[in-house]
Amino acid sequence: MAGYENRFTVEALVIKEMKIGESDRLVTLFSREQGIIKAFASGAKNIKSKKGSATSLLTYGSFTIKNKNGSLRIYEATPINVFFGAGSDIEILSLSQYFCELAGEFSVSGEQNTELLRLILNSLHFLTKEKHFPPLIKAITELRAAVLAGYAPDLVACDECGKFEDGIMYFTLENGALRCSECKTGGIAIDRTILSAMRHIVYSKFSKLYSFTIPQDKAKQLADITGHYITMQTDHRFHTLEFYESIKEQ
Ligand SMILES: [Zn+2]
Repeated sequence: MAGYENRFTVEALVIKEMKIGESDRLVTLFSREQGIIKAFASGAKNIKSKKGSATSLLTYGSFTIKNKNGSLRIYEATPINVFFGAGSDIEILSLSQYFCELAGEFSVSGEQNTELLRLILNSLHFLTKEKHFPPLIKAITELRAAVLAGYAPDLVACDECGKFEDGIMYFTLENGALRCSECKTGGIAIDRTILSAMRHIVYSKFSKLYSFTIPQDKAKQLADITGHYITMQTDHRFHTLEFYESIKEQ
């Protein structure tokens, strides 16, 4: 692949790993410097290999990569933050994998996408280390990732009459627009709590993004809406999302 130097170092999150043959793995890195990079990692089955553990899924680290005729191989790997431990439960693990799939879908090889990487790393932190309520972190990640990827909804006011607030407003997944109760022509009914949470996720500064709470039943409702929104807007089936939906606590 053009553009890579013979030897370079990136900081990256491992978002996918695939076994190739006996002891090789193809690792997908979401890097700060160059977006998505696919590189081989050897010695995965060798426990003594430092590289093996540092190139595991959900590890954020520093990776030195050698480029030999376009074939990239991880030469050195040093973990900085590991987001998956033995204590992680299946709901948290599957949601973490979904965040990795979102990152892979929304980022591009060779291009910096630092805001998306920052979002994914912070969401993994609050999900796995701070143990925030998983549906709320899911909703924050989906809606903010949608904004970064160019699928921002317009939540300012009713797009017909301009009314800013109503007891219940209606959100349409197809075009990401709001309608008041008088102008509605369908859409999902959302109350003031959900609407203000959605506005916060879309419009707040990043430093304030995670600093709000809503009741758990509202967070679940919100997470359903944002999941449907991202699926409809991207017209993409996220297999890790489907798995998460099949195993999450009801
Ligand atoms: Zn209206």
